[in-house]
Amino acid sequence: MSVPATGTWRDDLSFMWLEITGKCQLECTHCYADSRPQGTHGTIDLADWQRVISEAAELGVARIQFIGGEPTLHPGLAALVRQALDSRIEVEVLSNLVSVPGRLRSVFELPGVRLATSYSSPDADEHDTITGRTSHDKTLANVRQAGAASATARPRVGSRKPARR
Ligand code: SF4
Repeated sequence: MSVPATGTWRDDLSFMWLEITGKCQLECTHCYADSRPQGTHGTIDLADWQRVISEAAELGVARIQFIGGEPTLHPGLAALVRQALDSRIEVEVLSNLVSVPGRLRSVFELPGVRLATSYSSPDADEHDTITGRTSHDKTLANVRQAGAASATARPRVGSRKPARR
């Protein structure tokens, strides 16, 4: 990657991906992050992530997408989402939607929050083969629930973007 001599890359920093965990319930064949149930949240703790968001706000970042791994497995996700919103940063959470913890449902319905997911196949067997777990029915149910609860759910059919999915 080359950095423009003018430093405009900093001025243009409006979007950030925050990869807050390497842990995931699934073992997708296409996961370039190699996320797995045995994965960890890594060495960056909650205070570090909060500092990142504070600095992002100072730099004018307008949108953050939380990724992983599966970001809903990170115990600090709700606090990070709320901090971003308080900093006037829009949030998108990229989740496999296998399971949505009850503590996060109200967070996902806050103004400024979008929920994104992927749906590997309408064929349950194919979907489960891709994800390495029995996940199709759970994901589909949560896609439907999220869609019913919010106008800002963003399901996508097909393999997830390589961004950890
Ligand atoms: S691709 Fe996404 S859902 Fe699949 S194992 Fe990786 S992080 Fe989990």
